[in-house]
Parts: sequence; C-alpha cells; structure tokens
Amino acid sequence: MRRLRFALVFAVALGVFASSQGSAQPVTGPTQWLERATVDRPDDNPGFNVHVVDVLLRGNVDHRLDGGKIQRSVLAADQWIYLHSRDNQGNGLSINWDTYQGRLDVSLLRLTETQDQLFAAKGYPPDRIGQKLAQAGFNKANTVYVLVIDTGSPYVPVPYLGLADWPPTVPGFPGHVTAMEICSAACVNELSADNPEPDLVLVHEVFHALGLVPSCAAHQSNGHVTDDPKDLMFVGGYTDPSTANLDIGHDDYLYRPGCPGLESSPYVAYGAYAVLDLAADGTGSGAVRTGGGACVTGPCSFAVPRGLIVLTAIPDGDSVFKSWNGACSGSSPTCTIAVSGNISVRATFGLRTVLPKWRLKVRTAGKGGRIRVTSVKMRCVVMANGCSFPSGTRVTLKEILSKGWHFVRWSGSPGCSTKPTCVVAVTANRTVTATFAANKK
Ligand SMILES: [Zn+2]
Repeated sequence: MRRLRFALVFAVALGVFASSQGSAQPVTGPTQWLERATVDRPDDNPGFNVHVVDVLLRGNVDHRLDGGKIQRSVLAADQWIYLHSRDNQGNGLSINWDTYQGRLDVSLLRLTETQDQLFAAKGYPPDRIGQKLAQAGFNKANTVYVLVIDTGSPYVPVPYLGLADWPPTVPGFPGHVTAMEICSAACVNELSADNPEPDLVLVHEVFHALGLVPSCAAHQSNGHVTDDPKDLMFVGGYTDPSTANLDIGHDDYLYRPGCPGLESSPYVAYGAYAVLDLAADGTGSGAVRTGGGACVTGPCSFAVPRGLIVLTAIPDGDSVFKSWNGACSGSSPTCTIAVSGNISVRATFGLRTVLPKWRLKVRTAGKGGRIRVTSVKMRCVVMANGCSFPSGTRVTLKEILSKGWHFVRWSGSPGCSTKPTCVVAVTANRTVTATFAANKK
C-alpha cells in the first residue's frame, strides 16, 4: 500500500514581498516574528498593502495572537491563495501584505467598546471599528485593513463571523474598512496535521475587500458566485475547506478575459512562491517534512518560498527511506533544494526488512536429565511450545545429568551428536531432543 503523510509549514520564511518594484524578492529567513505594534511601522512596500490588525474589544480575552500566530496563519492563507490561483503556466498569485523589515506588520487596536456594544450600536461594525482605526492613525491610502477580532462570536451559531464591505469602500477614505473576522483564537489557523486548512474565512473577506466578486462575473450575486459550492466565494458559504477552490471554470473572478478579477488587483503579488509537488512511491510509507504544516494523504502540492528549503523524509515505523527522485536525489533523508521555480519531488519508501522468526523447542527423552540454555535467557525453550527467535540466532544447549543417568545424544540438530553442549542455529522451526539413559546397575 502506498501512502504518504506530509507535514509542511515553511516556518523558515514569511513568503511576502518586501520590495517596491512589483518584481519583488520573497523575504526569507526571519527567525523572529514581529510583536504587534500600536503604530503602523514603515512599510517595506510603499504601494498597495493589506494590513492586519488584531482588535481587542473591552472585556475580551487577549489570546496574544501576536508572537507568531497571526503571522503564521496569514502566511498559510497566502500560500493557499498562491496554490489555488495558478494560471496555465503554473504561476500563482499572493497578497501584498504589509511588512516591516520582511516580517508581517501586525497592529494592535484596543477599543473601549465591548463586543455587545459594538454589535448593538447603529451602523456596520467594520465601519465603526474603521473610524477608531483612523483615529489611531491607521488611515493610509492604498491600504486595506483587515481586522481580526479575538474572541468567539455569540452572534452566529459558528465560532466565527466574517464581514466585509462589498463593493469595497474607497481605500484612503477616513474610516474605511475593509474586512473583518470575529472569531476565537482557534480561527487563527496555523497549519498542522490536525489542522490542514488555513483560515479561509479571512481569505474570503479579504477578497471582498479587494472588490471580488466583480459585477462583470458570469455568476455574480452581491460579491459572491452562485455556480459552485466548492468556490471560496460561493453565495451560501463554501462547503468544505479541504475542497475549497477559487473561481472554478475561470468564468467569474480569476483569469476571465474581459472581466478584471483577482489577477488585476493592485494588492496582488506575482512570484512570491513556487509550487512543490510531492509524491511517494515504494512499498513503505512515511512523511516528508520541512518545518510543520500538513497534507494528510499524498500526493500533495504546496506553495513554498523561493530560495533554500530543506526536505526531510521520515519513514513510518515499519518502513525505511530509500531515495529521492525529481528535484532531490540520493538516499540521504535530508535534501536541500534551491527553489527558483515549480518543482516536483518523489520520495521512495520501502518496508523495513524483518528477519523471519523460527520456533525452537527442546525435549528430553528419558527422565534422567535436564537441558540448560546458556546463550539466551529464555527458559521457554524447554517449555511446551518452545520459543521463537529471529532466523540465524544461535542457541547453546547444555545437558545436565541426574544421578544414575548418562547422556546419550542430541537429535534434531545436525552436528551436535554426542557432545555435551549443542549449539543450534535457528534457521528453521526445529525440535531438538536430548536423550538420556539410565546407568547400568
Ligand atoms: Zn462573502
């Protein structure tokens, strides 16, 4: 049976842009995440940015979503977007997130309103928060602000609620917002084996904030599509994160000729990642890791940062890693690749060679002696069922005489004959008999 568990998260790199030129290089290698700040730090990219704000309403628990959680969640979402927005040449799109020195610039906004007050007040909650955001100095032109509200939502029967303006308000207009997700800390979705999908609610709302689904789309209805429940922008809500996709058929908001979609947005970046296709073969099974993250069954595709990545093959308990094929080669379980374009890698796992086991039984004929096993500490050899050994094990048997008896011979073990000590090579199921005889009176 061929199976492959993948565990991938690219903790080595926040694959976002840090250039002002559009032909940006992805940022690699931050080892520390930026703590959230109450001010907007200088933007790496002075162009169009999507800026993430951690919003704390009065009375809500601060789950400290900075310290990497939001950043990793956004990175996972960004890589998901890339993977699901590939064009005919296999190149995807990602979002121009606001970064500072190569790392996601997450801001903190503390509000004096409680969550109940926010929703009880007149007006659209994202707009109300947008006003406060502008007062706090977050009011850049060409910036879309995405709010993550850190608590469960009591207003809907699910633990999150996404809201966004559609059509979007004009960026740069005081108090404009944008997109908002209200959720428990659990919706900030770092990838793991238990949690293989990123925070797609956030992606859905960000897309609204970027103007999707445009009114020129074939199946458009108030910023959603009506044609396929697998579509992330489906009007009734996409049904299953594991099968969610973007503009199935490319007739609504992605690569549709004559209708500017995601690919036309100034908030979109090209070339931030490459696609790694992973597959496994062979008789064994295992995982390929490069940091964390997940794809439970293979083959899998991942958006990976360009630059150096390290893949590690981890065989399951009954398997051994054999070799790489494709962009990796050789039989070392670790492979370092310089990623500059889409690549595919195949890992071959074999089953661990298990020596067959054979059963050795030892019997005595005549009541005048016993057998002692000296090479292994196993009394079971002389018990009824004997005991089993890996093929080739050598077991030493020694006769012990009782008074009035003498040893005659071994049988069942070639070469032992009349020697007092018999070394049995266990290469087949074997019963060895020691024969004793009474001394003549
Ligand atoms: Zn929507």
